[in-house]
Amino acid sequence: MRKEERYKGVLNWFNENVPVAETELHYDNPYQLLIAVILSAQCTDKRVNMITPALFEDFPTAEVMAASTPEVIFEYIRSVSYPNNKAKHLVGMARMLISDFGGVVPSDIDELQKLPGVGRKTANVIASVVYNKPAMAVDTHVFRVANRIGLTNNSKTPLETEKELVKHIPEKMIPIAHHWLILHGRYTCIARKPKCEACGLKPWCKHFLTTKT
Ligand code: SF4
Repeated sequence: MRKEERYKGVLNWFNENVPVAETELHYDNPYQLLIAVILSAQCTDKRVNMITPALFEDFPTAEVMAASTPEVIFEYIRSVSYPNNKAKHLVGMARMLISDFGGVVPSDIDELQKLPGVGRKTANVIASVVYNKPAMAVDTHVFRVANRIGLTNNSKTPLETEKELVKHIPEKMIPIAHHWLILHGRYTCIARKPKCEACGLKPWCKHFLTTKT
């Protein structure tokens, strides 16, 4: 199957069957989303959603967070993975938001990556979810699902996957396609045993087409 045909089939299927796809992290503004995404590294959204209400309540703005310390923030986030590092990142991030960005979460991928705790994936999530930019954040699900379906050719790195997906997916669709692939990887095309019988992408999926007996 030609790659264009595969992309077309997959995107059409998602478009028809998953018209709404959004982040499962809870947030009310860009500052809160940035915190939630930093906390979600190597951690489930469900766990993050359990601890953010108290954190957002007591640290409602970057100013308040910037005036705090990692030791104080640690107590709020101790149940997520890597709480020590993340507490340092959150306070550092808030301080830089105030000192360098006037308290406003930037929209530029390079500027976002200057913030402590913000790598390329997090920067892409913010640019896409908050600012609706055509940025494709590649997490473990997107990376795996894209390779399995054959949207990428056994890509070796998240950056390779990102570039390939951005090249083939129409700009307007990139923000939602990110969520399609994540949710598909989380609930259907799961890492250990993909639920191929229940998957609507079978007609275009390289993994399915090459492994079925
Ligand atoms: S057919 Fe199977 S491997 Fe392919 S996308 Fe669906 S669940 Fe994943």
